[in-house]
Amino acid sequence: MRGFEYFEPKTVDEAAEVLASRGEDAKVLAGGQALLPMMSARLVNPRFLVGLSAVPELKRIDWDDQQGLRLGAMVTQRTIEHSALIREKCPVLADTASRIASSHVRNMGTIGGNLAHNLVGSDPPATLIALGAEIGASSTRGKRTIPASEFFTGFMETVLQPDELLTGVRIPPLAPGGAVVYLKHTVRAVDPALVGIALLAVRNAHSGSWSEVRIGVSGVSEAPLRLRSAEDVLRGRQPDDATIKEAAKLAMDEVDPMTDAHGSASYRRKMTGVILGRAVRQLLMRFQMKVP
Ligand SMILES: Cc1cc2nc3c(=O)[nH]c(=O)nc-3n(C[C@H](O)[C@H](O)[C@H](O)COP(=O)(O)OP(=O)(O)OC[C@H]3O[C@@H](n4cnc5c(N)ncnc54)[C@H](O)[C@@H]3O)c2cc1C
Repeated sequence: MRGFEYFEPKTVDEAAEVLASRGEDAKVLAGGQALLPMMSARLVNPRFLVGLSAVPELKRIDWDDQQGLRLGAMVTQRTIEHSALIREKCPVLADTASRIASSHVRNMGTIGGNLAHNLVGSDPPATLIALGAEIGASSTRGKRTIPASEFFTGFMETVLQPDELLTGVRIPPLAPGGAVVYLKHTVRAVDPALVGIALLAVRNAHSGSWSEVRIGVSGVSEAPLRLRSAEDVLRGRQPDDATIKEAAKLAMDEVDPMTDAHGSASYRRKMTGVILGRAVRQLLMRFQMKVP
């Protein structure tokens, strides 16, 4: 590992100042689970590290009935897994966090680091896309919020600029009659997802049809994405066997799967349809509807 100068700002504004003044030679350090191994291997060689562990506002977890759940970027994956507030207000997020790697990684790894790093097969992106979450970013140029579905742009790439700090995530409250499920398919339990699918649906109490549907997928393509054509098929219906098959086919067409050491593109494509079908059936069971 090459030498570096370490900064420990106390506020988001201070951190943004350091990033703005040091340019692309500076890197944010969160839990270090991804960055430090890359520095050890000399894959990245920042001259300046901006550690966020002394910024209290980035560790907050808040709930508001109108705005929903807010998580600071430095909330650890372990905290998300065990927080009583998150388990009550957004249990699918706690469940998703519990599927990340091992407890060693979750103890240190943060939600902000997970999203900014955008490892292929990261679990939270699929769930945040399905939940309609927004990601906050801050720099000396100002603040902005980005829908989770537009945040991930390519292989380990996001819309974040080098001078921007990811500050947190906001998850809107689930509409009445809504339910969400996250399913992860891997070869070994500790691996990132080969296929990670989160499905949100809101069931109309009178007609029984699904009025709102959002699907997030990670692990299949180079970046997590929203499966809009499969959503369109499921929306406005009470999914039956034919609907599930049609949605699965559209999902398989919509992804652009990759091949790596964990699995081939054709396997990822096939499992996208299989896992989506399972997710739809799980939600039908939750809604106590007929499961085809
Ligand atoms: C063995 C192993 C297995 C894993 N398996 C899984 C898995 O199954 N599922 C899963 O979801 N993840 C998995 N991960 C990834 C894990 O979740 C990491 O913790 C996460 O990707 C990085 O979080 P961190 O807080 O450690 O970030 P760091 O390592 O500190 O930073 C990662 C990157 O994000 C940038 N960054 C961090 N925070 C910010 C911020 N607030 N603003 C701007 N940029 C920022 C850093 O500059 C760096 O480029 C695994 C990691 C390991 C090591």
